[in-house]
Amino acid sequence: MSKAKHFDVAVIGGGVIGMSLAWRLAQRKASVAVIDSKLPGQATHAAAGMLAPLSDAASEGPLLDLGLASLEKYPGFTEEISDLAKSPLHIEGAGILRIARNKDEAKRLKAMFRRRTHLGLPLEMLTPKDLREAEPQLTPDALLAILSPAERHIQPRLLLEALEKAAKHAGAAIYSGESVTKIGDDASEVYTVHTDARAVSCDHLVICGGAWSGSLAALLPKAVLPVTPLKGHLGALDASSGSPLRHTICADDCYLVPRENGELVFGATEEPEAQFDPETHPYTISRLRLDAEALVPALSGLALLSGWSGLRPASPDGLPILGRMSTKKNIYAATGHGRNGILLAPQTADLLTSCILDGHNPPKAFAPSRFHNTK
Ligand SMILES: Cc1cc2nc3c(=O)[nH]c(=O)nc-3n(C[C@H](O)[C@H](O)[C@H](O)COP(=O)(O)OP(=O)(O)OC[C@H]3O[C@@H](n4cnc5c(N)ncnc54)[C@H](O)[C@@H]3O)c2cc1C
Repeated sequence: MSKAKHFDVAVIGGGVIGMSLAWRLAQRKASVAVIDSKLPGQATHAAAGMLAPLSDAASEGPLLDLGLASLEKYPGFTEEISDLAKSPLHIEGAGILRIARNKDEAKRLKAMFRRRTHLGLPLEMLTPKDLREAEPQLTPDALLAILSPAERHIQPRLLLEALEKAAKHAGAAIYSGESVTKIGDDASEVYTVHTDARAVSCDHLVICGGAWSGSLAALLPKAVLPVTPLKGHLGALDASSGSPLRHTICADDCYLVPRENGELVFGATEEPEAQFDPETHPYTISRLRLDAEALVPALSGLALLSGWSGLRPASPDGLPILGRMSTKKNIYAATGHGRNGILLAPQTADLLTSCILDGHNPPKAFAPSRFHNTK
């Protein structure tokens, strides 16, 4: 094993969260190493890529604020990355149509519309007639829809590739395919991160291990990160000869995302009981496909391109875990982003960069200490 190379910051985990953070830190001239084991089940690789702050935050609060702030940063974030990485990366789509197919769903959508109209995102309530014009292939069962043109999507795999290039361009060292097995510290509070291939020493250590963040925290004395996997399956149909949809469609049990590359993505399951099982199960993909066809019957004519699955990093209270851990000096967490990590990456990267380099803590609601970070 080679002698430990020293960095200002070591980031464990090279998904969208770790890679965005490494890029921002390197831009601020910190020396940064990213260590990623390329585990099957990585959430970033699996994500649909919707940038949808209104989907998940049931009520107003810190998650909604974080999502709206991150959405606002997305155009600049993608433009900057694609320039640096010379990658064709951009935000896609005509926005989200949230639809209701029965009276209860319609009531919920109307209530959401009333609550959300003052948030600064344009929202439009569509009548069944407007809806038919906007999306003629949608099931006639749709009673009502809310159009949110600002909630668009991105292709997460392209985003991650471009982020890695941008991070390297800014000077970050990326050690890929290496699993962190041990973290040591000495009296001077320099940490040493061990993989089978190398040791990396650092002044600051950030855990961005997605669903595996709990086992990474367990490598440190007295540290706890209560992150659990929330497995999700997705599939993609071949719509390369013309998509039957213009908008992303979100219904209660299913969503459909028409990508510019001709894939029509359908998803997604939520399977906490699957724990760390990274396998993709064809039966689950077939069941999801039936839900998708109930929403847009014309999908039955499209060929299945692929099905896949990934493990979302879920926290007990549904909020990400961001900032300094109370266990030891200069150890941080950026994890627990659940269903929204693609959306939340730009704002997470900025908050953690400012925390590590300037000492500014992210909002208290996300503090790791809320889970009593001691064993
Ligand atoms: C089916 C599905 C659909 C989704 N759709 C959306 C969506 O539409 N919009 C949205 O915003 N979000 C979506 N998400 C959520 C989003 O993908 C995640 O919140 C986000 O990708 C989390 O990023 P991360 O970097 O924290 O974790 P990950 O992407 O999982 O990355 C963690 C990394 O840590 C590495 N790692 C773990 N242990 C070790 C170790 N010991 N040593 C070294 N490396 C290690 C892993 O290899 C992995 O690469 C979806 C997720 C799924 C599964």
